[in-house]
Amino acid sequence: MPQAQQRIVAQFLGRLLRSTAFRRTALVLLLPFAGVVTSFGIAPDTVTDTVVRTPVVEQVVLPQALPDAAEKPSAEALIYWREELIRRGDTLAGMLARLRVNDADALAFINSAPEARAFYQLTAGRTLRAATRADGTLLTLQYLNGDRLLAVTRDGDHYIAAENSAALDTRVVNAAGVIRSSLFAATDALDVPDAIAMQLVDLFSTEIDFRKDLRQDDRFTVIYEELLERGERVGAGRVLSAEFVNQGRKHNVVWFEITPGQGAYYTPDGRDIRKSFLRSPLEFSRVSSGFTMARYHPVLHRMTAHKGVDFVAPIGTNIKATADGTVEFAGVQSGYGNVVILRHQNKYTTLYAHMARFAGGISPGMRVQQGDIIGTVGMTGMTTGPHVHYEFRIDGVHHDPLSVAMPTASPMPPAVKQRFLLASAPLARTMELLRDTRPATFE
Ligand SMILES: [Zn+2]
Repeated sequence: MPQAQQRIVAQFLGRLLRSTAFRRTALVLLLPFAGVVTSFGIAPDTVTDTVVRTPVVEQVVLPQALPDAAEKPSAEALIYWREELIRRGDTLAGMLARLRVNDADALAFINSAPEARAFYQLTAGRTLRAATRADGTLLTLQYLNGDRLLAVTRDGDHYIAAENSAALDTRVVNAAGVIRSSLFAATDALDVPDAIAMQLVDLFSTEIDFRKDLRQDDRFTVIYEELLERGERVGAGRVLSAEFVNQGRKHNVVWFEITPGQGAYYTPDGRDIRKSFLRSPLEFSRVSSGFTMARYHPVLHRMTAHKGVDFVAPIGTNIKATADGTVEFAGVQSGYGNVVILRHQNKYTTLYAHMARFAGGISPGMRVQQGDIIGTVGMTGMTTGPHVHYEFRIDGVHHDPLSVAMPTASPMPPAVKQRFLLASAPLARTMELLRDTRPATFE
């Protein structure tokens, strides 16, 4: 829904420029755990009309005095809300697994009910939201499809499907957090949706390797949209601006549309972040073998060069294109097993080996965008366990993808850059206010 999002960005920028009052009430209402997070003040002249999620500086510690067993909500009474970003190549079954829905009745209903058919045409970039019980029983599944809100809801012992035109409001939310254990722990504590956390991982993955670079006291600040239906959150929109301070190094991105509907993320000096390469084709994994010209080969039992990096992950984990490009090869090669080779900007190629399967439509000549799913982790070819063997070549010569200097995008034309700076100034100012507000420590 590019038009809707365009409108949202325009509304947000307009609001930032016009408004003078900060709505403190919203802050109070959204505090997730009073006493565990600490609020901070914002100067009265702050030009935000947005919700601020307070920095969380400690993990939630369970209170010493637990409520009496009688007062404790039973496991059946607890409702778990989860939200997942839909990516290209995702299936409904895969999405339900990620949403921790474990409910054969619900699945049978969605399979057979004609009014639930839209769940089989999921659009990448949108989100699915589910409420379940602890055992995975589905209570409601919501899909915001453009301006239609489709919901499958449990009603006693059966399900009903309803599709309504969503009278959507958007709210711009600011959140600032400090990493204590993991990014997701910090975003969860701030009640920042997972879809937004995933967008953060995507946005910074050219700069930060989230598998091994995160440190305690890393900080992030994010301005994003939240989609509301009659005051209730039904989905996460887009990250408008974000900052991540990793090991003392600051990284920033901001959303900007050069022409209406043609938006992308840029660095503060106006470089398109997608023109670079992701360091890893997997979101979370670990490196089992690095790039080396001589190593002991676990299958061949002799010294060989390892001209790539092995990222270990469970079978079925999605593999992403590390940059925009064209499929040069997708098929079987001895040793590599199922392998995809992508060509980028003429002289770069990337290779992804040992795949379990290719994503639908992946064949020579197909264009892919950075982050598109091109297949899943497997152990085809010569390998001792599930992993993706990833190679990065420049003019046919292998380089270590973890350390090679990545190409950067060319700068914007001056006229565009002027518009960009004008449009991003209010976001930058809000980010600065959030960053300069030191979170109080809870001790
Ligand atoms: Zn390898």
